Amino acid sequence: MTIHQNLIGGTWTGSNAIENINPSDTSDIVGLYARADAADVQAAIAAAKAAFPAWSRSGILERHAILRKASDEIMARKEELGRLLSREEGKTLAEGIGETIRAGQIFDFFAGECLRLAGETIPSVRPNIGVEITREAVGVVGIITPWNFPIAIPAWKIAPALAYGNTVVFKPAELVPGCAWAIVDILHRAGLPAGVLNLVMGKGSVVGQAMLDSPDVNAMTFTGSTGTGKRVAMASIEHNRKYQLEMGGKNPFVVLDDADLNVAVEASLNSAFFSTGQRCTASSRLIVTEGIHDRFVAALTERMKSVVVDNALKAGTQIGPVVDASQLAQDMDYVEIGKREGAKLVFGGERLNRETEGFYLQPALFTEATNQMRISREEIFGPVASVIRVKDYEEALAVANDTPFGLSSGIATTSLKHATHFKRNAEAGMVMVNLPTAGVDFHVPFGGRKGSSFGPREQGRYAAEFFTTVKTQYTLAG
Ligand code: ADP
Repeated sequence: MTIHQNLIGGTWTGSNAIENINPSDTSDIVGLYARADAADVQAAIAAAKAAFPAWSRSGILERHAILRKASDEIMARKEELGRLLSREEGKTLAEGIGETIRAGQIFDFFAGECLRLAGETIPSVRPNIGVEITREAVGVVGIITPWNFPIAIPAWKIAPALAYGNTVVFKPAELVPGCAWAIVDILHRAGLPAGVLNLVMGKGSVVGQAMLDSPDVNAMTFTGSTGTGKRVAMASIEHNRKYQLEMGGKNPFVVLDDADLNVAVEASLNSAFFSTGQRCTASSRLIVTEGIHDRFVAALTERMKSVVVDNALKAGTQIGPVVDASQLAQDMDYVEIGKREGAKLVFGGERLNRETEGFYLQPALFTEATNQMRISREEIFGPVASVIRVKDYEEALAVANDTPFGLSSGIATTSLKHATHFKRNAEAGMVMVNLPTAGVDFHVPFGGRKGSSFGPREQGRYAAEFFTTVKTQYTLAG
């Protein structure tokens, strides 16, 4: 098997490789991927620093053309890349192809942004002086990504970084180097000058840490766990660098008595269990008022029985496996914790055997949960959800907001009054009415509040806040 290497200063390099394993079939090796060490990371950062002066002054048409070309190739190869994604991460083929299309759309959007970057001209408070406000690239951007969106998250960090003239050192999650390698290869062949985009695959504690420890990384964008996010923050404060964090969620989905039962059940099923519950926007707390509670639980449980959990690449599969053995163990631990805490397991939670050896888990639903239980407070990051019974809308809103996190929040209701009040009062970065808490557009801001996020929003025009720095220029008119 050939080794997929790291890209450092425009050269593919590295011979120390590890296997990328398919979670739907552990006998299937997706490929061999190089592991960088700290010296490789330093070389990548030096290459990005050297490439910055020229790239940050490059013409906007050159950047536009490269990002457009990358978008076109991703779109043309969507079936193949979507398959690679499903094979290495375990989400279904439809989800894998959908995510690949989204990556292509993101590169297309930021190709357009290259041509739309504008500043402001403002009269000075002093006569005869002009003030211009411009945006400039920040410098070398470090990008650290998680395994759950192997192509979309790298795309939504790399595309704006390059569009606004930054150079990049990119470290993908160890479990999903395949999609990361593919988009770096695409961008490299699309014509990026050497050193503008560097790929360093490998362990977080080695590769990620070496990025955090470098004084030459000017900005760090991170998506992953709360614990690692804190390390990114501390190291960034130490080096006085800009940083942006997207971390966990414990997203609530409120179901009111007046909800359309079908809408409520389908949205809950989707948000709690699709993509194997491995989305930071997944809803794991279903907060249900007492008038609809029993009907909702009966309908959701019935619906869960018909969901097909199997090999991600198989036609008809609706939910793929959990990403790896340690995540599966963690999910199953939480099922035990929920039972011990006194919640009632009404469906699922057991390991499943399928034709191929993989990490299959039957989606689990608890009822009789309280918001104080660990299963209601800690992010599980798997197909495990609990129903919390509440008296009325006021209690539902209070429970929804009673969490250390604040990424996404949803409600199922036919009441305009409650929907409007909820949109205004949900303590979250994103609010959904009669829609799943997961599943967002690529051209509008993404991000949260409280323990979920830190720094400017990602995606859409708002991405400029993080990936540029503002300069205020004063000129005497003469
Ligand atoms: P999860 O694996 O639960 O998504 P992590 O925070 O462990 O969350 O991983 C997210 C990303 O952070 C991965 O690319 C991982 O390799 C990286 N990472 C893990 N530990 C460190 C660290 N000490 N320094 C920098 N990056 C790290």
